[in-house]
Amino acid sequence: MGSWILRKAVASVALVGTIGLWAAKVDAQERKPDLVLKGTITEANRESYVEVPFTVPAGVVRVSVDFHYTGHEKKATIDLGLLDNERFRGWSGGNKSAFTVSANDATPSYVPGPVKAGVWKLLLGVPSMPAGVNSEYVAKVYFGRAGERIGASTFGAEAVPGPVRSGPGWFRGDLHMHDAHSDGSCTSEGGKKVPCPLFKTVEAARARGLDFIAITDHNTVSHFNEVRELAPYFDRMLFIPGREITTFQGHANVFGATEFMDFRLTSKYVPTFDDLLNEVEKENTLISINHPGSPTGAECMGCGWSVKNTDFKRVHVIEAVNGGSLDGPQSGIPFWQKRLNEGFRETAIGGSDNHNASYDPQHESAIGKPTTVVYAENLSEEAVLKAIRAGHVFVDVQGSRDRSIEFTATVGGQKAMMGDVVKAGAGTKVHFVLAMTNLAGAHIEEVMDGVAKPLGDVVKDASETRQFDETSDGKRHWIAVNVRGQDGHLLILGNPVYLNF
Ligand SMILES: [Zn+2]
Ligand SMILES: [Zn+2]
Repeated sequence: MGSWILRKAVASVALVGTIGLWAAKVDAQERKPDLVLKGTITEANRESYVEVPFTVPAGVVRVSVDFHYTGHEKKATIDLGLLDNERFRGWSGGNKSAFTVSANDATPSYVPGPVKAGVWKLLLGVPSMPAGVNSEYVAKVYFGRAGERIGASTFGAEAVPGPVRSGPGWFRGDLHMHDAHSDGSCTSEGGKKVPCPLFKTVEAARARGLDFIAITDHNTVSHFNEVRELAPYFDRMLFIPGREITTFQGHANVFGATEFMDFRLTSKYVPTFDDLLNEVEKENTLISINHPGSPTGAECMGCGWSVKNTDFKRVHVIEAVNGGSLDGPQSGIPFWQKRLNEGFRETAIGGSDNHNASYDPQHESAIGKPTTVVYAENLSEEAVLKAIRAGHVFVDVQGSRDRSIEFTATVGGQKAMMGDVVKAGAGTKVHFVLAMTNLAGAHIEEVMDGVAKPLGDVVKDASETRQFDETSDGKRHWIAVNVRGQDGHLLILGNPVYLNF
């Protein structure tokens, strides 16, 4: 089916880029504590408070403590609290052995607020310490810094959380939702329209069977504290920190940071989009341009993308499918494809943009419609964001729970998956394989550089594979596959394999 101009064959064939499917799997590594505080509590300390000072250096934005002591079996009890260099930061008594405090979120029992350098104190209360018992305590202290990914989940239950699920796989999620912390609303017990509590959205996402979510309230960071409280309960689902930077010139989700980020684009604080991107890079986060095909103006403030001279090299992701438009006339897909044709490798994702905590698929913008499906090394924040950045992603546009594709390219005995780059000199044959699940009755199209053409007949079986070849002309191309239902509506939007990018 080759459609490129066939040139003289050259021998050089190379493969570059990450190959997620075949890369060695490495779960988040054990993190070393920044400080280890040790001591002994004896009967002399009974019914008193022991202060254990430690120094928080400048540049720290998050303090996590993991506390253990010996002598439980002899009825030794040590309660736990925290003072920062100025004030009381919380008391968990004997109910938690690990906690985190940061500017905008803290483990329940603790108070979010500025993390200032200086001498902080662990506060140890001793309600019970029988005579003759020496209780040895160890407090591991971890400092988080701006832009640091801690490896598993910012909101995990422990000071050093592991992945929500180990091992590589395809994970399904929704990366765009609103609740009471911005303009989400639902019906109260008494029948009124009220700001919709965040837990309703999270319950719905879980009932919908999603593996990961990002709650993306407009501009604020107030939702992170509640997410930290919910994450240990909903411990089969990964919570990715998110917010929707909402400006007069466009909306963009930022994934992976919990620090405040100034959204006042064109003000003296954030004069240009490049200044906003500087913030994004400082925090080591992903930025996604949202619903770029929407109208903009009085009808919907900044909904379409109108930033002049956007530096797309610094933009990682485009929300090509938004729950409000899917593949309709306001789709973001043409905007995304234009970027690819310009030579940028932006990953296409989807987001429901849900505002009412409903996952009923009959509703527009139901949670999980669309679903972003990601091939990651494990179900952790670091791995999922890395996989999105790498483009190891397809969008399940209608939000089924089980439709899937795997699209790979082979050159010279090596393989690449969606999002990867293949170098193929002129005349080199590139072999593509498309494996599909639960797409019987659908039509497939191959999309090269934005131009779609049918790929074979209607899909007949629940599990089906198609193969085709293209011969490289040595130039830059991108090749993706989309799947459509019998009525022509898009079911699956695939990210491309990139040739010679
Ligand atoms: Zn928006
Ligand atoms: Zn939104």
